[in-house]
Amino acid sequence: MEICTPDNTTSSILQSAPRRPVDSPTPLCLSCGTCSAGCPITGQSGFDPRKIVQMVLAGRDKELVKSNLPWLCTLCGKCEYACPMGINIISIIRTARGLVDRDKVPGQIHKGVELGLKTGNNLGLPQEDFTFIIEDVGEELSAESGFEDFMVPIDKKGARMLHTLHNKLVNTQNEDLVHWWKIFHVASESWTIPSVNWEGVNWGLFSGDNDAMKTFVDRIAHHMQALELSCLMYPE
Ligand code: SF4
Ligand code: SF4
Repeated sequence: MEICTPDNTTSSILQSAPRRPVDSPTPLCLSCGTCSAGCPITGQSGFDPRKIVQMVLAGRDKELVKSNLPWLCTLCGKCEYACPMGINIISIIRTARGLVDRDKVPGQIHKGVELGLKTGNNLGLPQEDFTFIIEDVGEELSAESGFEDFMVPIDKKGARMLHTLHNKLVNTQNEDLVHWWKIFHVASESWTIPSVNWEGVNWGLFSGDNDAMKTFVDRIAHHMQALELSCLMYPE
């Protein structure tokens, strides 16, 4: 069995990727393939988490960052959970993503991050449009038998639960909101939706942008404190 040891002098990814509390100080890969065996993406377009780990242990950061390999991962975490050596595989992949020039981030992820930072949601939806949609969906629900007194509680201080939203629920899948709200209503849940910074999907996590990720988390923490809430519902 080949054991890969790190070359810390050349791998900036290895040096800067946050380690897990359970990890040993020095990551050693046994090449056992446990990570690859459980990964749902292994084999797709040459992807293999073991290959990624061994690339950074060998100091092949630039090659990894230039490739599309880091972007194929779903960040599901199965590999990291299964790795007998406790290697921080997700952090390694996220750190590699963070080293990619932002204009080379694939798909809509970076655009969503920029819009999220600027407007509080990944769609760039203005506040008045958001409240119009939300209240309109709420009115439709109140037309149903048993929900006549339903109203969407926006910015309700002292409620129990903060309901953050996945942007697609506001954009194209309003009916899923209604399912949630019916459950809340029947269960007499005390909940609220923030009128600003309501996005619950943190694309800073997916794009490897730690500063953006922290900003999005801070916004939710601010809602929890300002509205004196004790429970958080996260859409992902
Ligand atoms: S986190 Fe990524 S590499 Fe690990 S199992 Fe999931 S998809 Fe595969
Ligand atoms: S499970 Fe851990 S030790 Fe085994 S090949 Fe993957 S990264 Fe290396």
